[in-house]
Amino acid sequence: NKQIVQDYLNEVYETVVVRNPNEAEFHQAVSLIFKSLIPILEKYPIYMEKGILEQLIEPERVISFRVPWVDDEGKVNVNRGFRVQFNSALGPYKGGLRFHPSVNLSIVKFLGLQQIFKNSLTGQQIGGGKGGADFDPKGKSDNEIMRFCQSFMTELAKYIGPDTDIPAGDVGVGSKEIGYMFGQYKKMRSSFEAGVLTGKGLGYGGSLARKEATGYGTIYFVQAMLKDRGQSLDGSTVVVSGSGNVSIYAIEKAMQLGANVVACSDSNGYIYDENGIDLDTVKNIKEENNGRITEYIDKHPGATYVEGCTDIWNVPCDIALPCATQNEIDEDAAKKLVENGVKAVAEGANMPSATEAINVFLDNKILFGPAKAVNAGGVAVSSLEMSQNSMRMSWSFEEVDAKLQDIMQTIYENCVEASEAFDCPGDFVTGANIAGFKKVADAMLEQGVV
Ligand code: GLU
Repeated sequence: NKQIVQDYLNEVYETVVVRNPNEAEFHQAVSLIFKSLIPILEKYPIYMEKGILEQLIEPERVISFRVPWVDDEGKVNVNRGFRVQFNSALGPYKGGLRFHPSVNLSIVKFLGLQQIFKNSLTGQQIGGGKGGADFDPKGKSDNEIMRFCQSFMTELAKYIGPDTDIPAGDVGVGSKEIGYMFGQYKKMRSSFEAGVLTGKGLGYGGSLARKEATGYGTIYFVQAMLKDRGQSLDGSTVVVSGSGNVSIYAIEKAMQLGANVVACSDSNGYIYDENGIDLDTVKNIKEENNGRITEYIDKHPGATYVEGCTDIWNVPCDIALPCATQNEIDEDAAKKLVENGVKAVAEGANMPSATEAINVFLDNKILFGPAKAVNAGGVAVSSLEMSQNSMRMSWSFEEVDAKLQDIMQTIYENCVEASEAFDCPGDFVTGANIAGFKKVADAMLEQGVV
């Protein structure tokens, strides 16, 4: 039986590789998910018989477009924009926009595929999508960013709407960019459709606690994993990679719960501050001045700065939170973490651990929280933002935060339950993939071949 499933998956995977050449990240995401689905396909062959996987791995729609814009010197620049509307079985497409030079179709598709499962895990009615552009916001003026966002939205507006596809932020896209895009969308539609984008400013339909949601949610998930084993964050040493939105609020919540966060990074290097990093300084550098993390040591001469961002995994810690980008932990980094006694690893970023790294963690029985479960708090609160927009109401910070805590606890429990039901207790990679998949697959079965 297992062999039949395995052969079937190999065959489908082959078509993915042939049909989508040069998309290494997308292949990686598909292969990781397929491996997790073996037990559920063995138990319910109907998903194979009805071609659910073949349908699932092909996006419902892929949009690729030119984004021309004029820089401050008057020069014309052209970037490439994408929106992948991957799966709408559970609701309108939902997922962020990433502005980063590394963005290409492979990256957007791997993120979009993960988003389907992640969104399913939140228990909210949202399908999966993702988008972005190979635009580098680093070093751009405010006016350049505005013009880029307007040009990007001029094309994207044709394909999105509050009941169709609701983009949000991701790497390189925060509330400022969302604001510029919302302004352009509103002008084009001549109507105020608050629910078309999430992560908006608080004055025009944004949700309290959305900014904090991904980072806080990451820690709520870690808290749930630890609590189940009679442990807590209190007194633990934590290393967080990155220093963007996810990292900053993961650090904040971890500290509130008594953890000592000793290191964080950006794409150039990392800082190490033995007695705990000063979050206000990091916020000031990153949120207010769009600066580099090396500036931290100007204010804290006792701290050290190390060039090269992946070396952060050499720092001994109890809990490692990769919150920067895909494949930032390779096999060697994972081994180093294990050697240094790491107890738990939770992925705040999307696919930050290479497949070999995940195997190292699972083989060594390290508590491992996979991205689609751990970082689902961001999109979950986006969905709460959509609800508030539909009701034309705003909930308090405490209300949203309480809902977020509930959602993260439920996600954790669903991962545990699925991992136990399918004979791999403690393997939350399999648990998350199966729990996320089942809801989408059942909805697809009920909705027919469309
Ligand atoms: N980009 C975030 C994610 O990967 C948030 C998406 C959203 O809020 O729609 O989940």
